[in-house]
Amino acid sequence: MLSVETYSSMTEAAAHMRATSQYLAGGTLLMRAVNYGDQGFDKILRVAQVDREISQESGRIRIGAGATMRDVMAAHDLDFLHPVARQIGGPAIRNMATVGGNLFAPHPYGDFATALLALDAEVIWVDGRIEPIDSFFSTRGAQRGLVQAVTLARPNRGDFRWSKVSRVKPKGISVMAIAAWLPGGARPTNTRLAFGAMGPTPLRAKAAEAALNNAPLDETGIGAALAVCTQDLQPQDDPLATAWYRREVAPVHLKRLLLNGGR
Ligand SMILES: Cc1cc2nc3c(=O)[nH]c(=O)nc-3n(C[C@H](O)[C@H](O)[C@H](O)COP(=O)(O)OP(=O)(O)OC[C@H]3O[C@@H](n4cnc5c(N)ncnc54)[C@H](O)[C@@H]3O)c2cc1C
Repeated sequence: MLSVETYSSMTEAAAHMRATSQYLAGGTLLMRAVNYGDQGFDKILRVAQVDREISQESGRIRIGAGATMRDVMAAHDLDFLHPVARQIGGPAIRNMATVGGNLFAPHPYGDFATALLALDAEVIWVDGRIEPIDSFFSTRGAQRGLVQAVTLARPNRGDFRWSKVSRVKPKGISVMAIAAWLPGGARPTNTRLAFGAMGPTPLRAKAAEAALNNAPLDETGIGAALAVCTQDLQPQDDPLATAWYRREVAPVHLKRLLLNGGR
């Protein structure tokens, strides 16, 4: 029998999370699972007052886990993430889908989480732990707590690039998503390159990142990165595309992103 419990705070709800509990954020995935008769959980926890605040904190931007894609699009400070949020589902989904829920969205979802991975975000848990997003994804699924917020530094103008490849425009699901943080202008250093829908969670293409460091962003300079861009990825077959197809086209889309911003 499925029960729903409402708590006044995230802290209280987190204390009641069990292996068979789910947290109701926007519900775009969770309520679909309920409607399909998913038997994998017996309790849904919700919180009366959600944290959807977007603010500046110690030089970083803090996004409450309950902020929706619509909230992101309305936040001037998050202008660099507007193209990402704008491509998540249609308006009805964007009104409900939260940043916190996107962190836990299974393949092929997780577009916003892919951008957060490229931007080296930190995950703030309700119990106060602060976890780098790389570590968060490497243990996702094994952790049972609730996420309160994420924080990230604002990239310099033009340093963050985003591309979503889908078969249906404008609101299709990702065949793949690519997010790149390229600090340093024409010869980026400390590059972070994340792919969505190319593995069980968003994944960094670390070999390609290394090949891009100090390389000019031109046809010759990016060649080595394109050659190794799928090395760290784990694409799978799904109704949208095969793993083989995803591997074949990844360098094509990465090239477009690096040479002309994904167009
Ligand atoms: C028609 C449709 C189109 C979609 N299109 C896209 C798309 O283009 N791109 C995309 O990325 N996604 C897409 N999605 C998937 C989904 O809408 C988003 O990933 C969304 O951000 C999930 O957030 P939510 O708040 O709805 O999560 P919910 O459904 O409320 O929860 C999902 C999971 O996350 C967990 N969770 C949620 N918040 C927290 C928290 N704060 N702490 C711990 N666990 C938490 C829940 O326990 C649950 O397991 C689509 C879904 C649908 C139905």
